[in-house]
Parts: sequence; structure tokens; C-alpha cells
Amino acid sequence: MRYVRTRVVAGAAVFCVTTAGILAILARNAPPRPNVVLIVIDALRPDHLACYGYSRELSPTIHALARRGALFRQAISQGTWTLPSVTSLFLSQYVSVHRVESVERRIADRATTLAEILRGHGYATGAFVMAGFPSAAFGMSQGFDHFRAMTGGSESMNPAIVKWLSERKRPFFLYVHYPDAHYPYRLPNPYRENYGAGYSGPADGMAPLGRLRDKLQPKDVQHLIDLYDNEISHVDFQLRTVVNALKALGLEEDTSIMLTADHGEAFLEHRKQLGHRGWPYEELVRVPLIVKGPQARAGTIVSQQVETIDLAPTILEMAGIRADANMQGHSLLPLLRGETQPASYAFSECLPLHLEAVRTERWKLIRNDESGERELYDLHEDPQERIDLAARRPALTKALGEVLLRFRQSNEALSAGREAAVANPDPKTLEQLRDLGYVQ
Ligand SMILES: [Zn+2]
Repeated sequence: MRYVRTRVVAGAAVFCVTTAGILAILARNAPPRPNVVLIVIDALRPDHLACYGYSRELSPTIHALARRGALFRQAISQGTWTLPSVTSLFLSQYVSVHRVESVERRIADRATTLAEILRGHGYATGAFVMAGFPSAAFGMSQGFDHFRAMTGGSESMNPAIVKWLSERKRPFFLYVHYPDAHYPYRLPNPYRENYGAGYSGPADGMAPLGRLRDKLQPKDVQHLIDLYDNEISHVDFQLRTVVNALKALGLEEDTSIMLTADHGEAFLEHRKQLGHRGWPYEELVRVPLIVKGPQARAGTIVSQQVETIDLAPTILEMAGIRADANMQGHSLLPLLRGETQPASYAFSECLPLHLEAVRTERWKLIRNDESGERELYDLHEDPQERIDLAARRPALTKALGEVLLRFRQSNEALSAGREAAVANPDPKTLEQLRDLGYVQ
């Protein structure tokens, strides 16, 4: 089903010298371990980036990273909202394995996160994240020497990030989770007026989306998109501060930057979905993925479908560390080296709503496990998922349904006895989640 990774582990020759002598030889011969900067821009859709074909030029910094590194055309997130998606990224597990899929659930202490593994191998680990889900209350701080959940946008997070970078010993792992493209849109001037100036109406970027959903005219939806685009433009400008700091600190050469998102954002394309957490259509599960660093040749385009659970094994292989046995993703380094890999499936889930999807590079089946509703799309001919082909292609619908069934059964077996821990978010975190629209 998925490709099997073979790993070459550097073996130590046996020398008739002292242990100290062997260690000295190994240290001299070991390749330098790269620093890794993982940047998650919440709710960033790839089709709103010029490097993925968007007509508006919002993101010159991201585009420059893509030119100097590798761009993955089809990266799929395993969840449709922040908590399950980021948990999948850090554990390299599908949502139906970790089951961190409600505000009452968090990563269990006994689970092993990417940050914990890196720290255990001598990496300095730092995280600067938006307040809300990537927080300690949900187990996200596990493995970080320094973890700061911050209110405010990227511009208020950057000074602390640059300070941490300037004081770090090497190698380091830095996780930045910017909130800017996540609703509500509170952009400071002067960026707010780039697109959508002169609008008046209910879509002010602040009103709760649940109340707006049924009131919006096309011009209001377009205004939400304008505000979203202004946020992308802003966060891209702010990202330049971190990229420039790496350069100024002499860290550029041996640092890998990976840029992605936790999920996308819906603007009423399907089923009146506005925001995220819902049916896993492309606008919610397709995310950007750009890797710039020593192991990514400039200008590489990877067309093969990949998943965000692949990021943790990739980062570990970059660092010369064996992936944890519980990880379900696969390192992307073979694809970055230009090796051809067999085609694989990508899966996305939204468990509280009984929704799941399986995607090949051409076909996608979305299923509601409770109601039995099924939709099949031909992503080559119909990338916006307008024409449901489930009734016209029953054999293919059935075959992909069986893939989903096997996927669920094997995940149920893996998750048995490893329930997610109960979360007790403090009042401040709950207030932040309310502000983001997750808690009523
Ligand atoms: Zn998110």
C-alpha cells in the first residue's frame, strides 16, 4: 500500500583502540546534524499561494523558499482542524490511532512526540505557538525545552523567536505555529486594506462564523477571502524576519526549513462549510509543503502525494535518528533525492462528525460513516470536487470503500489500549478557544 523505506544505518567499524578513540573517530566522520525549523501557518491553503498557482502575489517569502528548495504539490493533512492535525504531525499517527479529536482530549504523557525524540538525541527544542490548541493543556509542550503559547499575530511572536535563535546551541529544533490566517482576521494596519477596501457588510472578519454562514451573499464571501488573503500577505512578510535572522546568525547553510499548514479553510465551497473542522474536501485537507535545506535541491517539484504524518520521520531521518516504531508516516527524503516511489493512499478524518476520506493522486472517496453517505471525485478532471461520481463508478467507489474499511480496522487495532488522555484546559485556554470559534 505504501512504499517501504529502507534505511542505511552507518555502522561503526571495529578498531583496536580505546573507547574514547572510537568516539573521536565517529564524531569526526559523522555528518553535521542539521538544525530544523518547522513553520506551521494555521489554515493556510496552498491554492492561495502564487507558488501553487494563485493569481494574487501574496507570498514572496514562501515563493523564495520554494525556489531555493522543494515544493510538494499534493500534501494532505490527516485532520480538518488544529488539534487532531497537529497531534498527527507530532506523533506521526492517523487521527483514529491517537484519537485526540475533541477539547476533552490531549496527547497522553506516555506517547512519544517528535520533539521528545529530538531532545533525547541532544537537540535543543523550542516552540513559539499561537495560544489555543498547540498548547501545554493538550500535551503539545511535551519534549520542548522552551514552549511559549502566545497571543497576538506573527509580528508579536517574532522578537521572542529571533532571541531564542540567537541564544541556541546547535543542533536545534524550532517549531513556529503562526495564527494569522486563522479566523478571526484581526490584521493591523496597513495590511488590512490591501484587498477588500471600501467593503461594508456583515463579513467584518470578526463576527462568529456560525452566525454568518446563512447570511452571506457572494460579495460577503469574497470579502472574507480578501481578508484571508491580506492575512497571508502579512504572515509572509513577517516570515521574512525569521528567514533573515537565520541568515544573519550564520545558520542558513545547515538549517532545514519546513513550511506547512495544519489544515485549510472553507469559504462555502461545499455543504455551507465556512472555516474548518468538517467534511474533508480539498479546501480543508490539502496543505502547502515546502522544504528548504541541505537535503532539498533548489527547484525540486514533488508531484507524488504525501501526508503530514510523513514530516516527523523526515525530520528524524534528516537528523540521522531512527523513527519511532509507533510512527505511521514515511520519510520524504527518498522523494527529495528524486527517487521514484510507488503510489500511496492519503487519509483524512474528522471523527466527531464520522467523516473520513481516502485519496489517490486521481480519485477521492469521502464517507460519512454514520449516515453511509459517499462521494467520489475525479481530482484530475474535477479538482474542485463539483461532480460526485459515486453512483456512476460503483466498482471504484466500492474498492475505495474497502480501502477505508481496512484502514479503520488496522487503526482500531493499533489504538486499542492507548486511549488519549483527558484534557482539562484552564479557563484562559478555554477563553482563547472560544475566541477562535472552537468552544461555544
Ligand atoms: Zn489550525
